[in-house]
Amino acid sequence: MIPVTTFKGKKVGLFGLGGSGLATAQALVAGGANVTAWDDNPDSVAKATAAGIATADLHHVDWGGFAAFVLSPGVPLTHPKPHWSVDLARQASVEIIGDVELFVRERRAHAPDCPFIAITGTNGKSTTTALIAHILKTSGRDTQLGGNIGTAVLTLDPPKADRFYVVECSSYQIDLAPTLDPTAGILLNLTPDHLDRHGTMQHYADIKERLVAGSRTAVVGVDDSYSSLIADRVERAGTKVVRISRRQPLADGIYAEGSVLMRAKGGTSSPFADLADIQTLRGGHNAQNAAAAIAACLAVGVSEKDIVNGLRTFPGLKHRMQPVARQGEIVFVNDSKATNADAAAPALSSYDRIYWIAGGLPKEGGITSLTPFFPKIVKAYLIGEAAPAFAATLGEAVPYEISGTLEKAVAHAAADAARDMEGPAAVMLSPACASFDQYKNFEVRGDAFVGHVATLEGVTMLI
Ligand code: ADP
Repeated sequence: MIPVTTFKGKKVGLFGLGGSGLATAQALVAGGANVTAWDDNPDSVAKATAAGIATADLHHVDWGGFAAFVLSPGVPLTHPKPHWSVDLARQASVEIIGDVELFVRERRAHAPDCPFIAITGTNGKSTTTALIAHILKTSGRDTQLGGNIGTAVLTLDPPKADRFYVVECSSYQIDLAPTLDPTAGILLNLTPDHLDRHGTMQHYADIKERLVAGSRTAVVGVDDSYSSLIADRVERAGTKVVRISRRQPLADGIYAEGSVLMRAKGGTSSPFADLADIQTLRGGHNAQNAAAAIAACLAVGVSEKDIVNGLRTFPGLKHRMQPVARQGEIVFVNDSKATNADAAAPALSSYDRIYWIAGGLPKEGGITSLTPFFPKIVKAYLIGEAAPAFAATLGEAVPYEISGTLEKAVAHAAADAARDMEGPAAVMLSPACASFDQYKNFEVRGDAFVGHVATLEGVTMLI
């Protein structure tokens, strides 16, 4: 845990006692702050009280005494409308911050030079965060991985010289971190997402920009116009910018040329790493993630050799285009995290002969946007509530069966793929649907897929 010493002896209000909220309250208490915490959910309040945190309904406390108000990133700060606790904090002119802000203040107070890489973007945050942490760890560095990826940042080990932090930041966390100052900050890409919580695309982009604007080195993906403008603006303001691209050659920066990542300096470029044989980094989207990881690792002093070694040995992230087993030339891929059509697109674009397991609880828009990938699908195996609608979209274009359950879909897809004599193929769960009709969540669905694959005869598990 990182005891938050910067509020020692001061009163702090805190709202939101879910996973990271409770950990944040405990870190504040451990550092000597006088915390008053609350949540709209009585169960969370009871849990915090049982854990020794002082709780009180923040409707009825003296806000004038608070040195800060700490808000959980899941609680609306601005959209669709500010939470009532935010209104009360503003009325009392109390600054509103989150756990990432507490972390950066702690780092500045105790180990301002310890390397800190922060990652944001609409897509690819977790992959890039995990990849960077893997490169650092395999190069022998003391590495702390946390933030939005799942481990609350204040549960990590305390900052000290030579300890490396890799922290995934959602836009909500950035919005609550006014002095975010990473050694290397990454903005991967920007596309419309979560606009219900941010209002407009411009507001969403402005928040993301703050992460790179505060960085010593800003790593920015320049393949979308919002991010590209941000790179220019941040550079004009005097920050060192490293541009990355999966689509176009750059005079300076890291860019993809096919599967090869090139490093360019002053108009001259040379190959840095070839991703062709790295199963866990397939696809153009992963070229963007790997390019960002390379740029950030170079910025914190990792050698070229160590970076390439880390890329080669990256185990991938669970449920995200994760190769889980092999059977001859067939690879079994768990992409259960793809809970809508947009998220399934990268996986479908990354393989050429696909036995596609899809379906679940349908999302608006269905799979019409995936039509360009239909020629790569040898056959589709449809499961869950979405099966009839998906079947209607596939129509005559793609052979399909309504398998109903994941178990049947895996068995049938594997048998069909085993008869495929035309070369490498993928049996892939990339459902383009939520899981809740048949599973508790996408993780349980992905684990079920792996479980069914493991029972097949003659497969070699890769995990
Ligand atoms: P995030 O943490 O931002 O949600 P993840 O790394 O968990 O992103 O990846 C989630 C899904 O998003 C992946 O399965 C893939 O389909 C897609 N994806 C990953 N990286 C990118 C990228 N750079 N650009 C676009 N889509 C991506």
